[in-house]
Amino acid sequence: MAGRDASPLDVTGRVRPALAGFEPYDPAFTPCRINLSANENTHPLPASVTEAMRAAAVSCALNRYPDPMANGLRDLLAVWHGVKRGNVMVGNGGDELLFNLLFTFGGPGHALITCPPDFSEYANFAKMCETPVVTVWRDPVTFEIDVDALVAAAKADDAALVILTSPNNPTGNLVDPSIIRRLLDETDALVLLDEAYIEFSGEDASLVGWVADNPRLMVLRTLSKAFGLAGLRVGYLVADPDVVNMVGAIRQIYSEDVLAQSVACAAVSRRRELAPVVADIVAERARLEAGLAGIKGVETWPSAANFLLVRMPGASRVRARLRDEFSILVRDFSYAPGLENCLRITVGTRPENDALLDALAILAREEA
Ligand SMILES: *Cc1c(COP(=O)(O)O)cnc(C)c1O
Repeated sequence: MAGRDASPLDVTGRVRPALAGFEPYDPAFTPCRINLSANENTHPLPASVTEAMRAAAVSCALNRYPDPMANGLRDLLAVWHGVKRGNVMVGNGGDELLFNLLFTFGGPGHALITCPPDFSEYANFAKMCETPVVTVWRDPVTFEIDVDALVAAAKADDAALVILTSPNNPTGNLVDPSIIRRLLDETDALVLLDEAYIEFSGEDASLVGWVADNPRLMVLRTLSKAFGLAGLRVGYLVADPDVVNMVGAIRQIYSEDVLAQSVACAAVSRRRELAPVVADIVAERARLEAGLAGIKGVETWPSAANFLLVRMPGASRVRARLRDEFSILVRDFSYAPGLENCLRITVGTRPENDALLDALAILAREEA
C-alpha cells in the first residue's frame, strides 16, 4: 500500500543538520593484482601466529555475547605497554575510538585542533559531532608542524582536543616529542597522539609510556597496520582511567565481537613473532625509497611508517595508468590541499615493490 504521498523521501531535509551531505564511504577499489593503496600489511605472517589465530577463532562461542569491555584483551595490551587494565579501552578499529573521542570531548564550543595534511577521518568525525575544527597547516615543503602556531591554537579557550599523528598519514614523518611536551606543559587541551603506524618506527618512538604521568595525553593504536589485521577491526586507546571510563560509557557496548577479541588476544600474545615481518617492511621501505629517488621527476619524503608519499607530474593520471595498465593500486592524494600531484604508496612485499618501481619508471618517462 502506498503512503500518504508518493513523492521521493527528502532525507536531506530531515536529517540532523550537521549530517547533511555525508555519503557512505565506498572506495570502490578496482580489484588489482597488487594493492598498495590502504597501508595494509601485505606480508605473510609467521605460520605460528596464523595457526594460533585460527585456533582462537574456531574456539569462540558465537551464541554468547562478547565481553563488552574486552577485559582479556585489555589485560594483554596493558601488560605489553606497562600500564593497568583501567588505562586501556578497546574499539572496533581505531576509527571507532576516534569517533567516540570526538563524540565525548567535542561538540559546539569544543574545538578540535589538527595539523593537516593528516588523516581525513579526524575532520569527518568532528563534523558529524558538530565540533569546530581549527587547522594549523604543516610546512608545505617539509610537512613539519608549526609548533608555535599549534601551541597558540591549543591555548584558545574553546580548544578541547589536539590530534597529532605519529608517524603522520599521509606524510610519513614522526611528531617530535618536544611538541607533545609543550602542548602538555603550556596548554590545558587534551592531546591525542595517533600512533597507528608506530611499530614501523621502532617501539622507542612511542610515547605510550608518557600516559601514566600525563593524564591529558591519550595514545591511539591499532592492530590494522603492523599486525596485518585490518579486516579484524581492533584498535585501542591508552589513556587516563577517567578518560577510559567516559569513552567506555558512551561506546556501543558490543562493538568488539567475540571473534575479534579472541583472535586479537592470540595475535597480541605472539606479537614478538611478528618482529621479523615489521623488520622486513622497514627494510623494503628503504629499498623502495631508494628506488623511487632514482626515478627522474619523482620526489619523495622520508617515512617512519609503512608507506611513502611521492610527488610526480601527472600524479592522477599515473595512478589511473598504474591501475589500468599494470594492475597496481596506489592512493591518489592530488585532490587534497597541500598534496598536489601526490600519491601514497604502501610498502609491499619485495616482488610487489619491484613491480611498482618498474611500472613507475616507465610512466614517469611517459608523463614527464
Ligand atoms: C589506519 C589508521 C587508523 C586506524 O585504523 P583502524 O583500521 O580503524 O584501526 C587510525 N589513524 C590513522 C592515521 C590511520 O591511518
